[in-house]
Amino acid sequence: MTAQLTQNELVERLVTAGIRPDDDSIDVWASYLDQKLAFPYCPRCRYWIYMPRSLCPKCWSTELDLRELSGRGTVYTFTIDRNVSELQVMGLIELADQPGLRMVAPIVDCAVDDVAIGMDVSLAWLDFRGVPVPAFAPAQAGDAK
Ligand SMILES: [Zn+2]
Repeated sequence: MTAQLTQNELVERLVTAGIRPDDDSIDVWASYLDQKLAFPYCPRCRYWIYMPRSLCPKCWSTELDLRELSGRGTVYTFTIDRNVSELQVMGLIELADQPGLRMVAPIVDCAVDDVAIGMDVSLAWLDFRGVPVPAFAPAQAGDAK
């Protein structure tokens, strides 16, 4: 999908949704539009970088790839947002691809009382004003480990 979007069209679509991408995050947002979870990756260190930036924090290399993640993880911790009409659980998800690689994302398809630290989750997508954004749902028994 994004293959047909120019950089300007991509930025316009995000800004319309109220999202302000910067030079470091624009490629990550482009991957979201394809419903792919991909972060900058340093091939030299074999290290995923999040939040997105253009420099490896370990070796200062700027030769980074954008690499897709497995979409699997566990709930590191979470909080319940009571300021919205429908209770929403925001999770800090530790991604399975690298110890300590964590991202904030909503936890969906799960009753608020059933969310637990350490719970296995897998990638789901929410629509935010027409832009797919990552969320996580309880992993199903059939999900690849
Ligand atoms: Zn590096």
